Amino acid sequence: MITNRIENMVKSITLITWLFMFSVLSITSCNYKPGNSSVEGKMIGVKIYDHNKDFESLINDWKDMGINTVFTSLQLFSDKKFRTITRENEITSFIILPIFYNREALQENPDLYAITKNGKQAKDDWVTFVCPSREEYRKCIIDSIKTIIKELDPDGISLDFIRYFVFWEKIYPDRTFESLPNTCFDSTCINKFQEETKINIPDSLKTENNIYEWIKANCLYEWVEWKCELITSLIAEISKEAKSLKPGILINVHAVPWRHDDFNGAIKTVAGQNFSEISDYVDYLSPMTYAHMVKREPSWIHSVTNDIYDQVSCKIIPSIQVNKAYLDTELTLEEFRESLQKALAPPSDGVVFWSWEQLSNEPAKKQVVKDLIIYK
Ligand SMILES: [Zn+2]
Repeated sequence: MITNRIENMVKSITLITWLFMFSVLSITSCNYKPGNSSVEGKMIGVKIYDHNKDFESLINDWKDMGINTVFTSLQLFSDKKFRTITRENEITSFIILPIFYNREALQENPDLYAITKNGKQAKDDWVTFVCPSREEYRKCIIDSIKTIIKELDPDGISLDFIRYFVFWEKIYPDRTFESLPNTCFDSTCINKFQEETKINIPDSLKTENNIYEWIKANCLYEWVEWKCELITSLIAEISKEAKSLKPGILINVHAVPWRHDDFNGAIKTVAGQNFSEISDYVDYLSPMTYAHMVKREPSWIHSVTNDIYDQVSCKIIPSIQVNKAYLDTELTLEEFRESLQKALAPPSDGVVFWSWEQLSNEPAKKQVVKDLIIYK
């Protein structure tokens, strides 16, 4: 049931409209700063995917808690009333844009699937991934984002699933590097890799696994650099196009919450996210530090923030989970309080709660937010 709820939340941000046109109006906004000096100037954000139409009470709730930023689904931000009320109340708005997670595109054209080292489609439960090297798909994404910015005029865009396939939400500390999936081994990627690096993979290697093993033994560094560049270059292109349309637009990237050395460097080798290079093109990196979900202590949130901070030139805004997900064990009030404290600790520049749907149903946790943001 929890998985279904998460899937529904994610699905709501991958509308069919993502790849098509839609019509709407515009907003501009600026930062609302809470009075507490220890969090003054910091982003206090929530991720929200859907809502009933009572936006007045929603905004009142947020202002009571010092929430000054919203990361919203395209679906919700397409609602003119929502855009208007967030603007009027000086809530900075980011639209969450899933990039290589696109169920509709994969259903329509399964040939777009990324391929794993085992020769399978990149699919694990609800997590499915498009191959990141398809030029037509990348162009379509950029065109869609330009349309969204022109028509909806958000303060920022928040790039999600801009990485390689891995269901990191279920990767626990005891996992080995080899047990993780690795992509993409379809012919488009393998051909491009050879063409662009001038490395020749022997024709005698017939299976994806054989190719993976050969790459690992012969040119792992080049392979990982090439993978990461495919991701960074798309972020760079999106950033350039977005800023040419709206110079002050803010760019955030959702980061897989793995430190530099976790799982033998899997943040680059598996996920293809090179934070050091990505940070040249974005205003924020937001690691999804859902500690409870991945069986880590709240202190791990600070550790991930620190680790990424050391690699980058942009601001770090850790995102924390509000309630249990995937696991049956409860996320207690004390664990939530400690997680929020760790998330706000310098060098963090704020926090993003995942999600408002969960926080709104937890009065005691809402009070914790007030205590640490407003009354501290
Ligand atoms: Zn591929």
